[in-house]
Amino acid sequence: MTSESEASRFEPVIGLEIHAHLLTESKIFCGCRTSFGAEPNTHVCPVCLGLPGALPVLNRRVVELAMRAGLALGCTIQGRSIFARKNYFYPDLPKGYQISQYELPLATEGALSYETDEGPRTVRITRVHLEEDAGKSLHADGAQSRYTALDYNRSGVPLIEIVTEPDLREPAAAADFFARLRVVLMAIGVNDGNMEEGSLRCDANVSLRPRGETALGVKVEVKNLNSFRFLQRALEHEIVRQADRLEDGDTVVQETRLWDEARGRTESMRSKEEAHDYRYFPEPDLPPIDVSDEWTADVRASLPELPEARKQRYLRELDLRSSEAGQLAEQADLARFFEDTVEVAGNAKAAAHWVMGEVARRLNADGVGIDEVEVRPDALGRLVKLVDTGVISSSTGKTVFEKMYGSGREAQEIVEQENLAQVGDRDELQSLVARVISEQPDAAARVRGGHEGTLGFLVGQVMKATRGRANPKLVNELLREQLRDPDAT
Ligand code: ADP
Ligand code: ZN
Ligand code: MG
Repeated sequence: MTSESEASRFEPVIGLEIHAHLLTESKIFCGCRTSFGAEPNTHVCPVCLGLPGALPVLNRRVVELAMRAGLALGCTIQGRSIFARKNYFYPDLPKGYQISQYELPLATEGALSYETDEGPRTVRITRVHLEEDAGKSLHADGAQSRYTALDYNRSGVPLIEIVTEPDLREPAAAADFFARLRVVLMAIGVNDGNMEEGSLRCDANVSLRPRGETALGVKVEVKNLNSFRFLQRALEHEIVRQADRLEDGDTVVQETRLWDEARGRTESMRSKEEAHDYRYFPEPDLPPIDVSDEWTADVRASLPELPEARKQRYLRELDLRSSEAGQLAEQADLARFFEDTVEVAGNAKAAAHWVMGEVARRLNADGVGIDEVEVRPDALGRLVKLVDTGVISSSTGKTVFEKMYGSGREAQEIVEQENLAQVGDRDELQSLVARVISEQPDAAARVRGGHEGTLGFLVGQVMKATRGRANPKLVNELLREQLRDPDAT
C-alpha cells in the first residue's frame, strides 16, 4: 500500500460525467409514462421496446428541460444539434443501439462556479447532451441467479449527460461539485435529485500525473456512482491504486471499473478496446434539433434565481454569515419563507437566526416541509420583531413561538394576555436585585469574597422573581454594580 506522502507525489485529475433523468411525464421518443416503480414492463410500447418499424418522435419538453440545464450551467445552446446512434449490445437495450448525441451536442462550453471553504472554484462544463436511458436487468437471486429478468419501463426515459472538463483535483471536491450540481438541477426543475432511484448518477474519470506535470495521465473511468459518498470513496481508492502501480514502475491501464461498496474497492469491468468502438453515426430516423434564438431567450428568461446567486445576494445585501446564507439559499421555498420573514421583521440576521433555529427544529420534529409550517413568515416576522426590539427576551420568544403553534394566536396577543413583556426597566430591576441580595446574604458574601461562580446563582434568583422576563445581561450588570458598591442601593 502506498502511504499518503508517497501518493501525494502524484496529482489526481478528475472529470465527471453525470447522467440526470429529466422531469418529464412521458419518455423522450414515445408517449409512455416515465414514473418510477411501476409494475415491470407496463410502461412500454413498440418505440421504447425497439420493435422493427417503430419510429421515434422527439418530445419537445425534453429539449426545453435540457436547455434549462445547459443555460443554468452557462453553456451555449447550439442552434442545430443532432442525434446519433451509439451501437452496442446489451439485453436491456433492445434496439442494439442507444440514441444519444455525439458530434453536435445540444449545449457546449459552460461552467459552474461557486464559493467553497477554500475559496472560489470553477468547474468547466464540456457539454450537455440528450440521450435515452436503457432498461433494467434484474437478477432476482443476486449473483447466483440462473436467469436475468428485464424491465423496459426505464427504456426511453429522457436523460441529459453533463460532461465536465478534468478540472477537479480531489475526491472531496468532486463529491462537493456533484452535490452542487444536484442542487442546481433541482432548483431549475430539471431533475428530482433522487439518487437512490437512479435519477442522478455519476461516472468518475481519474488519472494521476507527477506534480508539476501538465500533460494528462492515463485515466480510469469508474461507472455508475449513485451517492456522494460512493463517488468520494471510489475516487480515494482509485487514486491509491493508481499511485501504487506508478510507484512500482507499472503503467495504469485505461479501462472502465466498477465500485464495489461492500469490498471497498474498484473492479475492472472492461478495457478501453472493448469499450470504445460504438460506431457512432447520425440517427437517420430523427431530424436535427433546431433551436431558435427566441426559444433560447424564452427559456433563459424563465430560469429562477440559482442557489449560488441567491447566496451571494444574501452575503452582499443581508450581511449573513456564509454558512447561514448557503443553507437558507439552497432551496427556493425555504429562501422565500426567510425573505418574507425578513420583510416583516426588518432584521435579516435575527430572521435568519429564527428560521434556522426554532423553525428548522419544528420542521425536523414534525417531519413537514417549510410550506406546511404553521407559523407563517408574517406572524414569525412580528415575533422576531418583538424579540429584536427588546419587548420580550429571546427565551420568552421561544416560549411564545411554541404557544403560537396549534393556537393560531399572534405573538403580541400572547405577550399581552400572559404578561410576558420583558422587565426591562432599570429602576424596577434595581430594586428587585437589591431585594434578592438582602434575601441571600450568604451568596452575596461569597460573591463579594471573590467567588465568581455564585453570581450565576443570584442572576438565577432575579430571573425567577421576574418569571424569566428580565434581560439576563442587565441583571448581571446590576448585580455586579450593587455587590461591588453596597451604597448603590
Ligand atoms: P472518453 O473518450 O473516454 O469518453 P473524454 O475525453 O470524452 O473521454 O472525457 C470523458 C470524461 O473524462 C470527461 O469528464 C473528462 O474531463 C474526463 N477526462 C478525460 N481525460 C482525463 C484524464 N486524463 N484524467 C482524468 N479525467 C479525464
Ligand atoms: Zn414507449
Ligand atoms: Mg467521451
